[in-house]
Amino acid sequence: MTPAATATELPRGSVTEELGFPNDPNNLYLQTVNTMLDAAELINLKHRTRIILAQPKNEIMVHFPVKMDDGHHKLFKGYRIQHNNACGPYKGGFRFHDDVHLDDVKSLAFLMTMKCAVVRIPFGGGKGGVKVNPRDISHGELQRVTRRYCSAIMDQIGPDVDIPAPDVGTTAEIMAWFADTYMMSSSHQHHDALRVVTGKPVEYGGSAGRLKATGQGVADTLAEMLPGVGIDIKGMKVSLLGFGNVNGWGGQILQDMGATIVAVMDHTGAIRNDNGIDCKALYEHNMKTGGIAGFEGVDVVDEETFYRTPVDVFIPGALEQMIQEKQAAWLDCKVMAEAANAPCDPSGERKLDEKGIEVIPAILANAGGVTVSYFEWVQNKNAVTWSAEQVDRELNRHMVVAAQRTMERRNQLKCSLREAAFASALDHIGDVYRVRGIFP
Ligand code: GLU
Repeated sequence: MTPAATATELPRGSVTEELGFPNDPNNLYLQTVNTMLDAAELINLKHRTRIILAQPKNEIMVHFPVKMDDGHHKLFKGYRIQHNNACGPYKGGFRFHDDVHLDDVKSLAFLMTMKCAVVRIPFGGGKGGVKVNPRDISHGELQRVTRRYCSAIMDQIGPDVDIPAPDVGTTAEIMAWFADTYMMSSSHQHHDALRVVTGKPVEYGGSAGRLKATGQGVADTLAEMLPGVGIDIKGMKVSLLGFGNVNGWGGQILQDMGATIVAVMDHTGAIRNDNGIDCKALYEHNMKTGGIAGFEGVDVVDEETFYRTPVDVFIPGALEQMIQEKQAAWLDCKVMAEAANAPCDPSGERKLDEKGIEVIPAILANAGGVTVSYFEWVQNKNAVTWSAEQVDRELNRHMVVAAQRTMERRNQLKCSLREAAFASALDHIGDVYRVRGIFP
């Protein structure tokens, strides 16, 4: 594998200088741009495509007041970043989290452009967020925040323009409120406007299989790629960082495929059982209590012990930038499958590379969510309902082809899987720009 980007290599040649980016090695946005530029160099991507992709098309920032339960008004800050729409409408989730910042949302929007291109679905990339901890506010307040956020960005999105979806801290119920708010506005009072958002509840335009889709996609990718590194899913040992929608489902699916989940960590603590943790029971427990703490039949361990647990595959499925040098040094795994977006910082990535840990990048590993979002959008557009089997089959087909394309690019370019996945995405985006040309 080639070495990951190092802090001292910044800035990447002409593009970052030309665009006047600050030389800040800890900036997640620069990290994302640099990965793209490395892959662009490998495939000799046109300069004009590099500079277009290095910045989002639109950065929308909004502030809106919401009446809280005690009668006072609180002002919230929201974002919607529209990174690129060369391949189709902007697409990507919006998150509710305390720690939502402009550069992070920009990076996540960028990654959505790459993700949609890796699986070749006809979408570009976008991402949104509101700076709020959904656990700190009541259900009614959550609904009012959602509706005001939707109305604040309503004129800039749309079923064929920009299609939000769930992300960290947002749920199917929130998508239903979002769709309802959008459809209450006078110009959107036709049923087709329902396509403005995906990840909706199945009762209201949602797709079978959307809830588990990201976890399912991680499992499908692993099933395709692990034999190549000599790991059999049956009997392999796995540790999970995060146990929300992504790893909560991914853990259950991998368990059904014969894997043993031996360690799990979330915001409430870390647990370990070398004979296996029952992810179905843990999922139920998590739904009831909001975390993994208090689950019986396991050892409660500290952070270091969690990371040091010997496993075949480690799956970070929590927030960005959690795997830094320290955590990477502790890890005892052969493969890391990024179920979360950008889980490693540059120092973590360097350490993983030094240790020879194979990293399956997020733009491939976690593309299952947006792929089933695309199926939901197609079903809404055609007023049809696919069976769970059809969704699973189509998802698997998309993930397998994307994984194969990535491995083929890696063999041709002799690079890391991350660079290969970016190269595969850029192959597609570069082709689209070549045939479209640049207006005027
Ligand atoms: N938030 C998810 C992601 O980061 C899903 C996006 C979508 O379904 O549009 O991929």
